[in-house]
Amino acid sequence: MKQIAATLGLDDCRIAAVTGPAAHAEQYQQWIDAGEHGEMDWMAKNPNRRKDPREVLPSIRSVITVALNYYQAEPPPLSPTLPSPAGSGPVPSAPGLSPLRGRIARYAWGDDYHEVLDGKLRDLCEWLEDQGGAQRLYADTGPVLERDWASASGLGWNGKSTIQIHPRMGCYFFLGEILTTLAIAPDKPLADHCGKCMRCINACPTGAITSPRHVDARRCVSYLTIESKSAIPLEFRRAIGDRLYGCDDCLAACPWNRFAQDSREAAFATRPFVAQWSPRDFLTLTDDTFRNLFRHSPIRRIKRPAFLRNVCTVLGNTGIAADLPALRMAAADPHPLIAEHAVWAVTEITAREADAGKAENPQHPQMPPHAGTGRF
Ligand code: SF4
Ligand code: SF4
Repeated sequence: MKQIAATLGLDDCRIAAVTGPAAHAEQYQQWIDAGEHGEMDWMAKNPNRRKDPREVLPSIRSVITVALNYYQAEPPPLSPTLPSPAGSGPVPSAPGLSPLRGRIARYAWGDDYHEVLDGKLRDLCEWLEDQGGAQRLYADTGPVLERDWASASGLGWNGKSTIQIHPRMGCYFFLGEILTTLAIAPDKPLADHCGKCMRCINACPTGAITSPRHVDARRCVSYLTIESKSAIPLEFRRAIGDRLYGCDDCLAACPWNRFAQDSREAAFATRPFVAQWSPRDFLTLTDDTFRNLFRHSPIRRIKRPAFLRNVCTVLGNTGIAADLPALRMAAADPHPLIAEHAVWAVTEITAREADAGKAENPQHPQMPPHAGTGRF
């Protein structure tokens, strides 16, 4: 089975025996009860099924966990000499400063992983069916405490950031699971190798990792810019900085990424918009151009209003006087989420330019400082 998984392009495949609920079932319930999942109602649904896979597949014997590496190297900085792809004008740059490219979480640089991973898991399930098993598969699509089963199977350990760490791949990989009625020889769990390291906790820009292995999602930039469909609370807007979609800070801080290699999966190749589009370019997207640009991208899932909410927030933090006309147009957008964040961005830029006395001499400001501790 592991050979077939490797042939399918999966980067690791491990097995855990199922003899009871997931290891952190109670902590998960406490997290939900405290409301730390925010608007992610799906996380609170079917808690018993999520806590114990025997509630999903009563005759389950094993959980198979697979890993699919999505790491891609950083693209070169935006070039001020290249024409803007969306026709919003060249991106000005001050001497010594690169034109700003908003940051997009690495997992979203290529195609939507749900489709890619689901296909590979289905192929593996076909083979397991031939062996007489009954299966359920999840590509981040169902109620399963996936990191508990990954840890139980020896596919890395749960880092203090709550992200799964693989000793060879680091943390830029997707997890998928197959619940099966087949009894397969289990793999041995790995020891925790975080030691005294606190880098991920210190790197968090919003203090969302409130203690080792505990994230308050309501403070997390990934939640605020992807999962939440509401206005970004004012207390977090400046801390969003230049993060257009998601946040990789706690992943990027992890020393275990020193072994990370580019993904072998062609579908995860970095798309041109990641390398070439500035926030002002993204601000020109209509419903149609948004759907076209992000076809088969995970970004398409959050839809244009939430994405432009993020774009306005980033421009509020990093924009210059030249961004104001586009933002004033966005302030008249019929969608209140876009309009409100555009007004906020105009206010931020105007105040910053006035403070600097540079309203007629556009320059990119320095990024708002992230305290070394990552806390407010
Ligand atoms: S570093 Fe970013 S992704 Fe990680 S917990 Fe903090 S806000 Fe969330
Ligand atoms: S940054 Fe350090 S503490 Fe955080 S997950 Fe990586 S090794 Fe563990």
